Amino acid sequence: MSILVVGTVAFDAIETPFGKTDKIVGGAATYICLSSSFFTNKINLISVVGEDFPDSAIQVLKNKSVNTKGLQIKKGEKTFFWSGKYHDNMNTRDTLDTQLNVLENFNPIVPKEFKESDFLMLGNLMPSVQKKVLSQMTKKPKLIVLDTMNFWMDLFMDDLKEALKQVDVLTINDEEARQLSGEHSLVKAAKKILKMGPKHLVIKKGEHGALLFNNKEVFFAPALPLEEVFDPTGAGDSFAGGFIGYLAKTNDISFNNMKKAVIYGSTMASFCVEKFGTKKLNEITQKEVKTRVNEFIQLVKFDTTL
Ligand code: AMP
Repeated sequence: MSILVVGTVAFDAIETPFGKTDKIVGGAATYICLSSSFFTNKINLISVVGEDFPDSAIQVLKNKSVNTKGLQIKKGEKTFFWSGKYHDNMNTRDTLDTQLNVLENFNPIVPKEFKESDFLMLGNLMPSVQKKVLSQMTKKPKLIVLDTMNFWMDLFMDDLKEALKQVDVLTINDEEARQLSGEHSLVKAAKKILKMGPKHLVIKKGEHGALLFNNKEVFFAPALPLEEVFDPTGAGDSFAGGFIGYLAKTNDISFNNMKKAVIYGSTMASFCVEKFGTKKLNEITQKEVKTRVNEFIQLVKFDTTL
């Protein structure tokens, strides 16, 4: 099954208690593509960069079988830039700077051969761009997943709520779920959000795991306890990439299979945080992914008689 991925391809500057990076390659779509490439080799990318973005970074995506035909390169313009600083607990962060640059006037054009992609991953970027991509699909994708963040809620809540009416799964973190719903309790928040359009909701809680809701059921997966967490940047996007990648690979969108997809998403996120930026996702092998999924299974498995 093919996946159409929309989102930022970016430069990031990151500060964690363990170190600091200057401009490195990041962006929601970058992490999503790298992560989902472990599950399918049919990934179509829609994004935009400036002429300052290195060809070598685009080649990395191409080497992972990502079709970059929908990646616009804007002459004389600068790539989207984000900078963030993590708190000592590594679970929360402050955005220090967001420079939209090429994103400011981005008009996404979905190439003809992408318009019938089977799965659609609307990664984090302007809700109006997410909507424009949705409207260009000639066949309704089997599953539409949307990810967003507080930045877009602050600026374009109405646009976001419009987009949400058309999606099957929303993935956000706990603070964003509270902001979107106006509820502190995540159970109440989920109930409200599920009335806004999405049939399923994933609430990511960083090192405290992830919750999957639909109208009837709820599932919880912990995060793998890791010895070393260097940089949480991209964990949410790696989660989304693993989640949709697994669903596309198995071509099964039942709640039961989504539970497994949450484990695969959590697995990809657990790798991502072990090194700065995209480094770890570029290094891991299929065998390591399998071994880590098995660690997850062992972590939550127990016997009891009631
Ligand atoms: P995550 O840690 O999964 O939330 O995602 C981090 C990535 O999101 C970074 O690589 C940033 O380039 C990207 N990012 C940060 N702010 C935004 C934004 N407002 N819209 C889209 N992408 C963003």
